[in-house]
Amino acid sequence: MNANLATERIESATAAFLQRPHQLLIGGQWVPATDGATLEVINPATGRAFASIAAGGAPEIDAAVKAARKAFSAGAWPKVRAAERARLLYRLADAVEANADEIAWLESLDGGNPVGSVRHVDVAMAIDSLRTSASLADKITGETQLAALQSDGMGYYVREPVGVAGLITPWNAPFLMAVNKIGPALAVGCTVVHKPAELAPLSALRLGELICELGFPDGVVNIVTGLGSTAGQSLAEHADVNKISFTGSTRVGRSILTASAINLKRVTLELGGKSPIIVLPDADLERAANAIGDELCFKSGQFCAAGTRLFVHRRAHDEVVDRIAARLKGVKIGAGTAPGTQMGPIISEKQLDRVLGYISSGSSQGAELVTGGRRIDREGYFVEPTLLTSTRAEMSLMRDEVFGPVLGAATFPDADLDQIAALANDTDYGLAAKIWTRDLRSAHVLARKLQAGLITINGGGAHGRLPFGGFKQSGLGREGGREGALGFTEIKSVSLGY
Ligand code: NAP
Ligand code: MG
Repeated sequence: MNANLATERIESATAAFLQRPHQLLIGGQWVPATDGATLEVINPATGRAFASIAAGGAPEIDAAVKAARKAFSAGAWPKVRAAERARLLYRLADAVEANADEIAWLESLDGGNPVGSVRHVDVAMAIDSLRTSASLADKITGETQLAALQSDGMGYYVREPVGVAGLITPWNAPFLMAVNKIGPALAVGCTVVHKPAELAPLSALRLGELICELGFPDGVVNIVTGLGSTAGQSLAEHADVNKISFTGSTRVGRSILTASAINLKRVTLELGGKSPIIVLPDADLERAANAIGDELCFKSGQFCAAGTRLFVHRRAHDEVVDRIAARLKGVKIGAGTAPGTQMGPIISEKQLDRVLGYISSGSSQGAELVTGGRRIDREGYFVEPTLLTSTRAEMSLMRDEVFGPVLGAATFPDADLDQIAALANDTDYGLAAKIWTRDLRSAHVLARKLQAGLITINGGGAHGRLPFGGFKQSGLGREGGREGALGFTEIKSVSLGY
């Protein structure tokens, strides 16, 4: 967001939103939790509450699922043509675009990320994602097969909406994640119950307001805020939900899979990562180092596809490490809404302690602290971006997802690409892998050998529209583009004798 942006107008729109009650969207009505329970919403840059939301639980999830089921089977939605679903989604994209600055400001207050980055990455990608979903609504088709000429019949298959979809999202990119699930689900004709993360729920409620203004039939989109252990768990267990699309940690992903087994729900899981970065000696080292440093600070490292294990050829190691350290030292840290902030706080005190714990365990296991490593002495939950070298694969710092701005580096000698890939693949995760080299052959051979759902070469290009998801314990299924929309469909084959 540029400095001359109409900050006053945005702050007053945000203030107006904050004054409205933040309730549950069930069957087209905003309602409180039945027992009136609420949860505080915290600004991580101050550690103080600035709003409250309704704390939905099992009864509210049940009411929302009933509303979604009714909207799926009766009323207007099942009769809405694909082209009309597309029109509604295009209108939603336009409404998000018209309110983009306000949404970004709200999400920056709630989640802590720099408002410019929320506006130009998350909200911009959300607008594109809605338009992609809209464009897919009338292109979800099956295939036809004829029997041999002498035989008497034909067969075809169609893709039908899977039904009621439960959408559970994390706090690190709440608006984008909500849209990445709601868009494709509605495009193919599903109805949804969305459970946002309790740590950053407000932008999803703003999205709910926009949806209500646009003429989606009641019950097509329901939003129930509340705790994961109550609202989230009831949604995953609910016997009348056909599909769960979950983004979050591998630990909770596993429990979603177990809960979904009750009625064999279809499940898509977008989980954690521990993504390797490989720098070959022929790479543009300055460009690579700057990009690696910037990416480490993106969302304060709270980014599922973040590169957090750095493998550099020994000839390039010192230069790359020095350049990354210099880049990290220059990062302007502050509240997401403060002018010029490049990196915001960590989401919570608990998460900050976890990040600091990994830094100190890495140091005590022999890693060398090059820069960062400390909590910043100010209100809120801030930590310095941190680089450690001389790491070994068995350190917890190099095995677990830290979800903070912490990068562990190691070198490799003149090794063949198989050995480099083996280093990179030595992880339970497989979400992303990043390659820096000027040699096309090495880039593509490595891309083939790496076990990850997204490979970026020299920083990548247009990966926003590619299918996204993980190998190994980073997930199940794919989101994004056509593949993502197909995940909300069920195939029905029809075999016909003439
Ligand atoms: P989380 O703790 O797994 O929570 C994710 C969501 O699940 C939240 O809405 C949470 O609710 C809910 N939840 C918690 N326990 C639940 C349960 N037993 N049943 C049903 N729902 C439950 O993850 P997080 O800490 O919010 O987010 C960080 C994680 O997300 C990281 O591991 C990151 O890698 C991953 N992530 C993955 C992607 C991807 O696309 N692969 C993208 C972004 C983030 P409450 O928060 O209200 O408790
Ligand atoms: Mg918050």
